[in-house]
Amino acid sequence: MTEFADLAYPDIGALLKDERRTVLLLPLGATEPHGPHAPLKTDTLISLGICERAAERLEDDRDIRALVLPPLPYGVTRYGAAFPGGVSISEATLRALVVEISRSLAAQGFPRIVLVNSHFEPEQVRTLREAVAESEGVVRLLDLTRRQNAKRLTDEFRSGSCHAGRYETSLVLADEPALVRRQRMESLESKMIDMPAAIAAGQTDFMAMGMDRAYCGAPAEATAEEGERTFETLTELLIDLVREVAAC
Ligand SMILES: [Zn+2]
Repeated sequence: MTEFADLAYPDIGALLKDERRTVLLLPLGATEPHGPHAPLKTDTLISLGICERAAERLEDDRDIRALVLPPLPYGVTRYGAAFPGGVSISEATLRALVVEISRSLAAQGFPRIVLVNSHFEPEQVRTLREAVAESEGVVRLLDLTRRQNAKRLTDEFRSGSCHAGRYETSLVLADEPALVRRQRMESLESKMIDMPAAIAAGQTDFMAMGMDRAYCGAPAEATAEEGERTFETLTELLIDLVREVAAC
């Protein structure tokens, strides 16, 4: 069993007496438009997919037990406001949620937490970094926007033209293919937009960036196989960080 909230309280008590160190994984995402073809929960689904794989991979580990916390499906998401479906919370709310969740767990003897985030609006990433700094215990962020992590991911991801494109759509196809509207996906022309550059130039919504259907990149080229390969890399990155946190 790898889901924290699937356990009953005596099982949680038993974890505290276990020789294996428990590291908790907190999947973070957003509820946000992801093109006409992919679900609003794309980012949450991706974070959850990484966490579940890592926890399963560590199930028989001698030193570490990883458990997946219930995901946080809301984030700071404003760039897609021109489209229906986005549900944004403020930076202060996100920060308080993360800090309070980590405090609550640390107080019970679970100070080791890894945040796994797949929603890259700069305000989200900045807030999570601040929350990590403010949290008690050993709280770390798997920060895929950092160069040493990004360089291991796909060309589209590194190009920054990766909102609901080939990278993200492939990951959804790997885990919940029924949620990708195939006909729409196949009809979408590729749209290369350097989002980090656009954001640095002061653009803060998809329409201004030229994303008139709430996506960029090449969703029509997405495949479940690529998604599975990317999940593999993401899982390795997470396991490396879990081992680091467990050693603290
Ligand atoms: Zn996304």
